[in-house]
Amino acid sequence: MPEGDTIFRAARTLHRALAGKTVVRFESMLPALDRLEIAGRTIDRVSTAGKHLLMHFSGDLVLRTHMRMNGSWHIYRPGERWQRPRRDMRVVIATDEYEAVGFSIPEAELIASRDLRRHDDLRKLGPDLLADTFDAAEAMRRLRERGEIAIADALLNQRVMAGIGNVYKSEVLFLCRINPATQVRDLDDAQLASIVETAARLLRLNVSEGVAPMTTYTGFRRTTRRDDPKERLWVYGRARLPCRRCGTPVSIRKQGTDARLTYWCSTCQPHVGTGLQARPGGV
Ligand SMILES: [Zn+2]
Repeated sequence: MPEGDTIFRAARTLHRALAGKTVVRFESMLPALDRLEIAGRTIDRVSTAGKHLLMHFSGDLVLRTHMRMNGSWHIYRPGERWQRPRRDMRVVIATDEYEAVGFSIPEAELIASRDLRRHDDLRKLGPDLLADTFDAAEAMRRLRERGEIAIADALLNQRVMAGIGNVYKSEVLFLCRINPATQVRDLDDAQLASIVETAARLLRLNVSEGVAPMTTYTGFRRTTRRDDPKERLWVYGRARLPCRRCGTPVSIRKQGTDARLTYWCSTCQPHVGTGLQARPGGV
């Protein structure tokens, strides 16, 4: 599932290509998008709210999309060959210069912009880690409301904070040296504050220009941009490989109601209370 910074980058790219331009062609395989005429409208801007991507059109209309597990937006020049099969196409928004193609997008709807604030999914989002107005105190408060659950699960809950996905979940907890199974109520304010601050810092770093997506670990060769995303991470995707800090094999476990994979170092992130025991290599 794309993380908040990935959606933010996609929105920025779409905004640069499309903002101020007129839609010359609109296609959609999604029946929900058929009811209103899009061609002829101007794309005013493209923004994000957590992991929701919002494309604002003239005439008080917003296209809200959510990528979930496999969705993505691509930008092409007219006539350029698509990198995914046509059967995965869900939406095409074409201007004279570009074609924005939404592939495998499971969730899309058109909303009047005046109704955005009242939209159920958007209204319930926690503070947006990438918003200029990010409210860390409110994020702390929402974490505290969920004292009974494991911190790793709380971080994935978009109603606590919006933007963290499964990769940053493991990375943030590693950097803060907190075991992913720790219940929120067992963490003190300083620990929670460091988690919130680290999450905001990592997401912000990763929307800056010139940083390869999802970089949390730059290693020794800071000038080398490595191609494999896992080379840029501390623990995510590195099961059984030596911890970059202490050499202990990185642990992996399915966690939470959705059985999402969690990676951690049992030495750097010691277990306190009840929760995940170290099981290097086991799932
Ligand atoms: Zn370690």
